[in-house]
Amino acid sequence: MKCPVCGMDCVRSAKELLATLSTFFQPCPECSIRTLDKSRPHTRLDYAAPCSCGKRFIDEVFAHIYVIMVEEGDLSPEDPLIAAGSPLVHPGFAMDRPPFLPQNSLVLLSARVTRGTASRLVRDVPEVRGVVRTGDFVPGIVTPDLNTVPRIYDLLAGCDVRADIFPLATGPLVIYKQQSLIHIEFPRAGYPKIRSVIQHVGTPPVRCFVDACSGVGTLGLTAASLGVPHVIMNDAWYASAFWSAFNLEVNREYLRINQVRIFEQIEDMQKHPVNREQIKIAETEGEQFIEVYQGDFHSLPAVIPPGSAPVTALDIFDKKNPIALQKIRQEWIGTAGGDVFIP
Ligand SMILES: [Zn+2]
Ligand SMILES: [Zn+2]
Repeated sequence: MKCPVCGMDCVRSAKELLATLSTFFQPCPECSIRTLDKSRPHTRLDYAAPCSCGKRFIDEVFAHIYVIMVEEGDLSPEDPLIAAGSPLVHPGFAMDRPPFLPQNSLVLLSARVTRGTASRLVRDVPEVRGVVRTGDFVPGIVTPDLNTVPRIYDLLAGCDVRADIFPLATGPLVIYKQQSLIHIEFPRAGYPKIRSVIQHVGTPPVRCFVDACSGVGTLGLTAASLGVPHVIMNDAWYASAFWSAFNLEVNREYLRINQVRIFEQIEDMQKHPVNREQIKIAETEGEQFIEVYQGDFHSLPAVIPPGSAPVTALDIFDKKNPIALQKIRQEWIGTAGGDVFIP
């Protein structure tokens, strides 16, 4: 599969990715390990080279990044190691110990990095696949009224597409995203949102499941993997709707579908970054009917067939206001019917 961001081969199907996963971050007998305290400056300004097997312990990779950022003046030698940024590994999944990183397996998110340094990091640190400059805001849509223009982080160098892997009884779900455009959600222990979907889908699975604010499609694709015959995913933000459709294709081996038809490519979607009325982005042909829309979830009931009585996951960003949440819930049940839960 061609990567939609860089055009190279950095995305692979779920099956291909999972085939190599058990050894992906494991060391060879020669790999060395040095644990560094991230809360302190790395005063020795040294780092080990990758092992002959091609992997390197994550702390050494981080030391390498830190040394370059100090040399370039993005950090001072008094800054703690953690000031370099957050390393997001690719693919991400729950690990019981820190990883040994192979080439191109880390996206660096950093508030301090500058453009020239980012190019050097991608060139000189083999594990780094992309560098993103963050800000003190959340990228993408953050308010349900869609009245603010979404802000995004800056991809400074390389490619920031990476995957997270979610364990399911039917097989691990592989969810790709472009990190600079999507808010970062670290999976909580035990994957409570996924568990909540499994519980609401039930056995035998419900007939229709709606993921109304789908993000990159994790919950909708969980329902699809559980065998729900009709799944609707929807998000107003183009990057979320695009990656939902893309992840449908990535995970197609788990689904009873013959074909995924994509109606809009990412370049088309960039022309309407936030959409109110639903635009269909993708749908499947086959035993399971899975649809992806870009639009405001308030108008989503218009494309849900009457009498579907869907089970709807409303994973809205702001869950802090219980009164507003209850109002949204009541409105949804009034227009779309069925049952609704906040995962
Ligand atoms: Zn790429
Ligand atoms: Zn090794």
